Amino acid sequence: MRLLLPASVSEARECLARGAVPIGGATLVWAAWQQDGFPELAVSLRHVPEANVVSPESLGSAVILGQIDDRVPGVLRRAAGTVGTGAVRRTATVGGNIVGSSLRCLLPAALALDARATVLEPDGVFRTDLAEVVAKRKVLLSLEWRKPVADGYRKLPAEAGGPPPFVVAVAVHAGEDGHGRRLRVAVRDGYEVHCADVPCGTDAERVLAAVETQVADGLAPAAREAVREQVTEVQARSGRS
Ligand SMILES: Cc1cc2nc3c(=O)[nH]c(=O)nc-3n(C[C@H](O)[C@H](O)[C@H](O)COP(=O)(O)OP(=O)(O)OC[C@H]3O[C@@H](n4cnc5c(N)ncnc54)[C@H](O)[C@@H]3O)c2cc1C
Repeated sequence: MRLLLPASVSEARECLARGAVPIGGATLVWAAWQQDGFPELAVSLRHVPEANVVSPESLGSAVILGQIDDRVPGVLRRAAGTVGTGAVRRTATVGGNIVGSSLRCLLPAALALDARATVLEPDGVFRTDLAEVVAKRKVLLSLEWRKPVADGYRKLPAEAGGPPPFVVAVAVHAGEDGHGRRLRVAVRDGYEVHCADVPCGTDAERVLAAVETQVADGLAPAAREAVREQVTEVQARSGRS
């Protein structure tokens, strides 16, 4: 396998045109490739400036989870801080987590932020939504969002070997003209991620109902309580901002 290290978006596109497979920190692919065989070409975006941005309104796909700090909203920072072990967080990347892992702890946080994705294709750079990135395994370059008024994240404890821990991410967004704030809530229940977008001020029970219309079997009592708490707490904080 040859690892290509482009230094610009146009070089990265050329690598994709040559059939190179994206690689992040290799925390997942290495074992799979050892078993199934290595691709001829792999491409890492770690030297592409746009894939390394960390700011209040954007995050590059090559950023290592352990490097996500208070430059980004707390909801994303806390999501990254709860992924796996310290060793995983020192190596795994945003792109590998959102596109390449089955748990995707960053995805509910990015959905609560209403993040848009910039993806790379051999013939150009495109903006799209996260659902398409995940469903079609697009090559993620970066995420962009508008800074929220307030946000929150909670991951419930889970038993080893059991289903993935329940995650709830919440963000309050300013309206276009300073009015009409919106509340976005994203949950991971099992391996499924669901999202609701409601007017801010909607009481926690209605938010729960909006989320639960998308969850097949409803939420477990502890999960419902976590959503209720986060929604109430983030809305209260947003009222003070
Ligand atoms: C012990 C352990 C515990 C873990 N616990 C958690 C957890 O609690 N929560 C959680 O969410 N995850 C967890 N993970 C998964 C972890 O987040 C992934 O290992 C990691 O996100 C993969 O990142 P990576 O950069 O190493 O990806 P790689 O292993 O390099 O790649 C994984 C896949 O992503 C693709 N990929 C990489 N970058 C991009 C990109 N920019 N665009 C498109 N596709 C890309 C690759 O082609 C490959 O298919 C755990 C993993 C381990 C090993």
